[in-house]
Amino acid sequence: MKKGRVFSGARPTGRQHLGNYLGAIQNYVALQEDYDCVYCIVDVHALTTMEDTLNLKQNTYEMALDWLAAGLRPQESIIFIQSHVKQVLELHTYLSMVTPLGKLTDLPTFKEKIRQQPNNVNYGLVGYPVLMAADIVLYKTDIVPVGIDQAPHLEFTRETVRSFNHQYGAQVLIEPQMKVTTVPKVIGIDGVQKMSKSLNNHIELAATPDETRQRVMQMVTDPQRIRRSDPGNPDVCNVFSMHKVFSSQAEIDMVNIECRRAGIGCVDCKKLFANNLNTNLEPFRARRNKIDETPDLVWDILNDGGKRASAIAEQTMIEVRQAIGLP
Ligand code: SF4
Repeated sequence: MKKGRVFSGARPTGRQHLGNYLGAIQNYVALQEDYDCVYCIVDVHALTTMEDTLNLKQNTYEMALDWLAAGLRPQESIIFIQSHVKQVLELHTYLSMVTPLGKLTDLPTFKEKIRQQPNNVNYGLVGYPVLMAADIVLYKTDIVPVGIDQAPHLEFTRETVRSFNHQYGAQVLIEPQMKVTTVPKVIGIDGVQKMSKSLNNHIELAATPDETRQRVMQMVTDPQRIRRSDPGNPDVCNVFSMHKVFSSQAEIDMVNIECRRAGIGCVDCKKLFANNLNTNLEPFRARRNKIDETPDLVWDILNDGGKRASAIAEQTMIEVRQAIGLP
């Protein structure tokens, strides 16, 4: 018996990187043990900030491929594309009627977006949290895994559910609970900013071993360690943070000691990490290449997921339309 239904969505950003994996995907995989999982590629959300849609389809495919290779199991979990379930757009409209505009424009995330794209403050951008609420409640979600910084978003969804149920005097929509997960902040190869494709400081999961090695060799280390003979400080070095995830305990201990007394140089330390990373990613890459031989299979999985998600969504919408009193 599973403990309930989990929902999570992510924008179609194409090939996933280490930050995506450590921050979300590995948690998605683990949650499948205990929950019915619904994982959505939120292509409609992406349109709020997207300048062109040329790569949208390919990015959706690449992301789904990475999810599957990482261990999402389409036989049990529902993996689908947001726009394939039209009911989400309908529910978004109904929820928007119980959402005060000021509440949306006051959200710090909205203000941040205005700063980021002052020339494209579109209506969809304002309503983004409402669409997110619709995504979550459409599937009668019990649990949403969130990092602590996303907790306000989920609280918004919970308030929207309460407003809807209060407005129409029905307990149709379920208030989802948060499952706060410790999301490690994965720093990019620049050693400063969060790993991100747009900053080009990322390491792709599907990169070749050589490409991975090259990216690792570019990683910024302890900035105080100028010469090979200078002792380093692993506590401020991103390479060491990555060793902690991908290397053996004996290697972590060795780097921790030897770095501090200049017993190991950064080049050798990075080579060791690159080797370990490549070894760790080998099974993932083999599965990915195998699945990629039959792209139709990926689309079939996404289409099938869309049908299963639509069936749940339509059931919810029957209750929603009834609660509203639509003729
Ligand atoms: S030896 Fe390793 S842990 Fe130490 S500063 Fe260099 S890369 Fe970082």
